[in-house]
Amino acid sequence: MSLIRFSFDDGPKPLGALTSLTEILKGHHILADFYVNGVEIAASDETRAAVRKLHKAGHKVENHAWTHKSLKPMPIEQVRKEVGDTQALIEKLTGRKPTRLRPPFGAGGFGTPDPELAAVAKEYDLAITLWHVDTRDWESPRGLKPKLDKIMKEVERQKHKPLMDILMHVQSETAKDLELLIGSLKKKGYKFG
Ligand SMILES: [Zn+2]
Repeated sequence: MSLIRFSFDDGPKPLGALTSLTEILKGHHILADFYVNGVEIAASDETRAAVRKLHKAGHKVENHAWTHKSLKPMPIEQVRKEVGDTQALIEKLTGRKPTRLRPPFGAGGFGTPDPELAAVAKEYDLAITLWHVDTRDWESPRGLKPKLDKIMKEVERQKHKPLMDILMHVQSETAKDLELLIGSLKKKGYKFG
């Protein structure tokens, strides 16, 4: 049976949602991956502090590029700036180099990766990492509750994978429903790793 790994994209803002998410995770002793955008980290002292705090709590802070634009059509110099500036800022704040790159929208990462994207990922020792279960928590009506049956069906379908990455986003509706998803997974016997 799969180990479950939660990943939360598009942080660290909004900080209220981030705080709620991390409090719930802490209550269940779950460590997650946060794929953050450079532009959001650099927004203020508070957002920079939030990234440091994520790292200190034991979560992994990973690279989701600077602006959240699709990297696929960009010339390599621009991809390098998107990825490299984010990488440098996270390392400066946390002391840890991200090891994974999740391209915004997954663009350029499906199947055989986009050659410029693959080259830049290699330069920075980043593994291009997508997900196994897309909760689509951003889709209206936002959150996990309206999609819970679908999510659990998808989890069951993939339960023989050694590790299952479940994709969510830093947003208040997801924070509100996270207990519900954790409860459903625990009821089915899933463990977090
Ligand atoms: Zn994203």
